[in-house]
Amino acid sequence: MDFLRPTTWAEALAVKADQPEAVPIQGGTDVMVEINFDVRRPVALLDLNRVAELREWGPADGYCRVGAGVPYTTVVEELGGPLPGLAQASRTVGSPQIRNRGSVGGNLGAASPAGDSHPPLLAAGALVEVESRDRGVRLIPADEFYVGVKRSALEPDELIRAVRVKPATGPQYFSKVGTRNAMVIAVCSFAIALHPDERRVGTGIGSAAPTPRRALDAEKLLAAELDWDAPLDPGLLARFGELCAAAAAPIDDVRGTAGYRVHAIGVLARRTLGWAWNDHLGRRAA
Ligand SMILES: Cc1cc2nc3c(=O)[nH]c(=O)nc-3n(C[C@H](O)[C@H](O)[C@H](O)COP(=O)(O)OP(=O)(O)OC[C@H]3O[C@@H](n4cnc5c(N)ncnc54)[C@H](O)[C@@H]3O)c2cc1C
Repeated sequence: MDFLRPTTWAEALAVKADQPEAVPIQGGTDVMVEINFDVRRPVALLDLNRVAELREWGPADGYCRVGAGVPYTTVVEELGGPLPGLAQASRTVGSPQIRNRGSVGGNLGAASPAGDSHPPLLAAGALVEVESRDRGVRLIPADEFYVGVKRSALEPDELIRAVRVKPATGPQYFSKVGTRNAMVIAVCSFAIALHPDERRVGTGIGSAAPTPRRALDAEKLLAAELDWDAPLDPGLLARFGELCAAAAAPIDDVRGTAGYRVHAIGVLARRTLGWAWNDHLGRRAA
């Protein structure tokens, strides 16, 4: 197995263009598990750890641009202000060791329906920045990035450069059901982001469909009927939960049944909207 170690982003793109079969490795918390369990035996690994740009984050065109190699620990410690949903989700990933190595870029690269960063990226309306040497940069909306179980819109010669997320203008929450409180893959998860400036609520469902997805009908319901100046109507909250549950399309597996997941998505949706709405009204009163 070749081990390729570019030191710049341009070099990394050149390697990927010339050897599209090379498997990128950032934190290795997915890749090394797969290699150790013989799930895959790549002909070449493309180690991105020497590409310093991938570990940087900062403002860009009104977005917060988070390099693909930024580890979860940094998201938790430094990005809770602008990206509260992603920071909350990052806090639930694995253990401190996994959060020190694992990255949002690696979560996107793996594109698992259970990945914890996907629901908050969907709810916030994030863009995934990908690049190839020959065709340049593409900005892919998060809800177009996931195309199948563990499959993304990334082309073989492309690498993920960063994720761009608008700094939060309202409350955001992430909630995850697991079989225990830590070191657990989600049975299902849900993220919500209030965008008061647009009078819009974003959603993200995790681990309850072949891909992470938004609950589009539930979002439309709130866009049409939510009174942003009033307490949350219990009837509207209930219908929101029902439409979020209806947007799920889960399977039975070792972590939970499809029926349980559908039910739990409805509960998480109502719960997170309730929390976010309390914060929203509290901020207005302050
Ligand atoms: C014990 C344990 C607990 C875990 N717990 C959780 C959890 O609670 N929640 C959760 O979501 N995940 C969990 N994971 C999975 C894993 O930690 C995450 O998916 C993490 O985000 C992967 O990031 P990484 O940098 O380690 O990726 P890597 O393993 O380096 O790569 C993952 C995938 O992304 C690709 N990739 C990496 N960087 C790029 C790039 N720049 N461009 C294109 N492709 C790229 C790789 O080729 C690979 O396919 C856990 C893993 C372990 C081992």
